[in-house]
Amino acid sequence: MSNIRTRFAPSPTGFLHLGSARTALFNWAYARHHGGTFVLRIEDTDRERSTVESEAALIDGLRWLGLDWDEGPYRQSERGDRHTAVVEQLISEGKAYRCVCTKEELEERKEATLAAGGKWTYDGRCRDAGYGADCGEHTVRLRLPEEGVLGWDDLVFGPSGQDASEIGDKIIQRSDGGALFHLSVVVDDIDMGITHVIRGADHHANTPFQVALYQAMGAELPHFAHVPLIVGPSGKKLSKRRDPVSIEAFRAQGYLPEGLRNWLIRLGWSHGDDELFSREEIIEKFDLDGVGRASGQADPDKLAWVNQQHIKQAAMDDLIAGLEPHWSKYLDASPDRDGRLEQAIDLNRDRAKTLDEMAQLCSVLLREEVDLAAEEAAKAVKKHLKPAALPLVESLFAALVKLEVEEWSESQLESVFEAVAAHHDNVKLGKIAQPVRVAVTGGPVSPGIYETMVVIGRDRCLPRLESAIEVMRERAAQAASPPPAG
Ligand code: GLU
Repeated sequence: MSNIRTRFAPSPTGFLHLGSARTALFNWAYARHHGGTFVLRIEDTDRERSTVESEAALIDGLRWLGLDWDEGPYRQSERGDRHTAVVEQLISEGKAYRCVCTKEELEERKEATLAAGGKWTYDGRCRDAGYGADCGEHTVRLRLPEEGVLGWDDLVFGPSGQDASEIGDKIIQRSDGGALFHLSVVVDDIDMGITHVIRGADHHANTPFQVALYQAMGAELPHFAHVPLIVGPSGKKLSKRRDPVSIEAFRAQGYLPEGLRNWLIRLGWSHGDDELFSREEIIEKFDLDGVGRASGQADPDKLAWVNQQHIKQAAMDDLIAGLEPHWSKYLDASPDRDGRLEQAIDLNRDRAKTLDEMAQLCSVLLREEVDLAAEEAAKAVKKHLKPAALPLVESLFAALVKLEVEEWSESQLESVFEAVAAHHDNVKLGKIAQPVRVAVTGGPVSPGIYETMVVIGRDRCLPRLESAIEVMRERAAQAASPPPAG
């Protein structure tokens, strides 16, 4: 084990967002790559917005993505006493002070400053007043250095910082005694021995003040790595309305955890031209020097492609488990594991981009009934079950009936199709295959016809062909004696 310690510190105020999941993934991958420790800390100090459901959703999302943590979940709300003790300590050392300015007073002074064309930071009115604990309602502010830069060497953005004078003495404890975000984050990161703070670039601007807190507490700075935000395919900020942004939404659409994780790790990180990463390869290859300053573009086509590559390689058991919630859209009941299911999945590994699509493609092969009179079959029936195809399908049926169950294989079926084609003036195989496909699947799209017929099986194919022959005969009869015009 190395002494590297990273953390994921989500606020439980919603679902697991794409950007947060990527932050978690980078922290996890960095810790795993270096043999360090990955800590989960729930930042639930905002009592009004934090919910248990959200915490459960975050944890569920992390587990689903395969991101395991070594310590936690710690809850920031359980550490309130510690945060208060640090504030007391800072006051006693003169590094922080009590401030009795009210919101209204501050607002007034701020407006006046802005009106005079100035920039507002706290004006230091209570800075040297030396208020004691008995000063009545008050906040506590950190005393910033009067000059100098609060800087750090960011592992992504390089040398970063801001003049202390531009920041002003910010509040670290509210008037109700609660610690402010900056204080609790820094205290917890110090106490938990976090060596690398990897987080979204939206926190880059918070860091100078946090640097001041580290200095006030006499603690060494951790390494900071601010990761550029994720943007949509057009380069615009992700929008909750337009783009799917919760991990749950991607899961519901049938992306595999491996696929989504692979796509996420490439949003802002690269390793040569590599695109495909298993969990082990992420651990082996991830490092912060591969994180660039350009925003990661969330391209849905790329996600579909990456996911498909993972579907190709996924273990059968995982696919079957993942497919479970998707069947109900396409079949009356989940298919049994009777061998046909596995064959259907294998046949569609090259085609399905999501589990939802896999369920749809497999359902064509696994459905119990094909109803050629159904509305969704109408177009294919009209186009492919034409009277002209009747002699072909009839000949084929007559030959197929003679095949025993054990002979119902791709190669035998191929021989039968070829013999029938030869018998009918060497008609193109597609002329037979397409009506047969509609007959046995109810639609015009399926994998190769022989494979399809093997999965569907003799016992289902033959009656379906009989029904199709009947449909074609009726159409032929109608064509021979059209209904009277008028
Ligand atoms: N709780 C903060 C957030 O969810 C993260 C704080 C940090 O990473 O420093 O944005």
